[in-house]
Amino acid sequence: MHTLVCNGTVITPSKVISGGGVLFHDGVIEAVGREKEIRARFAGGRGGKARLSLINAGNRIILPGFINAHHHLYSTFARGMAVPGAPAKNFIQILEKLWWKLDNELTTEDVYFSALVPLLECVRNGVTTIIDHHESQGLQIGVLDILRQAVERTGIRAALCLGTSDRYHKGWEGVVENARFLGQLRRKPSRLVSGMVGLHAAFTVSDETLAASVAVAEEYGAGLHVHCAEDLSDQRDSLAKHKLRVVARLKKFAALGEKTLLVHCVHIDEREMNLIRASGSRVVHNPESNMNNAVGCADVLRMMGKGITVGLGSDGMSSDMLAQMRCAYLLQRHDQRDPRIAFCEAPAMLLENNAAIAATIFARKLGKLEAGAPADITIMDYVPPTPLVRDNFLGHLLFGMVDAAVDTVICDGEVLLRDKKFITIDEERICARSRELAAKFWKRIASA
Ligand SMILES: [Zn+2]
Repeated sequence: MHTLVCNGTVITPSKVISGGGVLFHDGVIEAVGREKEIRARFAGGRGGKARLSLINAGNRIILPGFINAHHHLYSTFARGMAVPGAPAKNFIQILEKLWWKLDNELTTEDVYFSALVPLLECVRNGVTTIIDHHESQGLQIGVLDILRQAVERTGIRAALCLGTSDRYHKGWEGVVENARFLGQLRRKPSRLVSGMVGLHAAFTVSDETLAASVAVAEEYGAGLHVHCAEDLSDQRDSLAKHKLRVVARLKKFAALGEKTLLVHCVHIDEREMNLIRASGSRVVHNPESNMNNAVGCADVLRMMGKGITVGLGSDGMSSDMLAQMRCAYLLQRHDQRDPRIAFCEAPAMLLENNAAIAATIFARKLGKLEAGAPADITIMDYVPPTPLVRDNFLGHLLFGMVDAAVDTVICDGEVLLRDKKFITIDEERICARSRELAAKFWKRIASA
């Protein structure tokens, strides 16, 4: 049966259509436009007899599902966790005292439930596509299958990878796991799940592991997903060990390219930006995370000015992409003390650049409401208090919709959330089990 999402303002996002509708069938959008015209065409084309299922948007806003270009689903159990000893005073200490301890202790069930919780939060925030970067040094082989089960249980779209690292001398496991998972997807492609080749960061990856990961990416036509110059320590390490800056080292190993995601790029110089631009690699900005870790502010406007595609991620901080967008906007203004900037660029990172990145990674048209794109649709509970047209849509997005609730979420034609309630998922039961597991996990961490 065909489904028509109707009675709303459709934001495609290149067009704003009041009295709009989105018609889809078998998970794919067939028509976007004025509701009256879609209905007339549908009835005319089928002799007026075909049945049409309706999802009434209640005069609210109909948008493409949002995309998160860099997430860490596994970070859930850090929420509220006590970190023993003196507070971490720099980025390396944050990794050593918190994240590396945490990811080393995750069990199979921990990985599954710590992923389910933020996946549900993605849905609650209208996010239908994520690019995840997983780390669990204590559980690597087979771990991407566990994440895949959580993703398929939730029903959103995800590109998965394991962040390979030599920090505990287990880099080979990461290479093997990424290759195994990509091989599995090649044999049996999925509508929702895709894969990448993850690397933690240049400073924890040996030349051998880097070369092996690039070989896996080439073999499967997959992209590399790596943290890049998040902190100045990454550059210092690269210069000391390899006599090269981080991006130059990645280039030396043929790790750059259109499918490569370079996450953060807070501490890259002009020459590195030019290398990124020439290679077509994409950068993912994570403003909330950068502020939280006090690593600095990436010069994303300069990168975008050079023609680099800069997308937006949450880095596991949250699953709310509109919040990341507003943070990106505020951070640039604050950092550069210029109230004229970032009004267009911050929304472009989320709506245009994440769509371009996802289209490359998933080999599908994503982040757009148009014929032929998957039916990934978010209805926001936002009733504009002032006129909303194409020319002022960004003002509504940055200052209104950013605080609005998400009412309905559809991914690949499946309704996941309706009237702010999950259709097939018992959210309370999942959170209850997550709390039980986290409590046990915290005890293990404390005694580790
Ligand atoms: Zn990250």
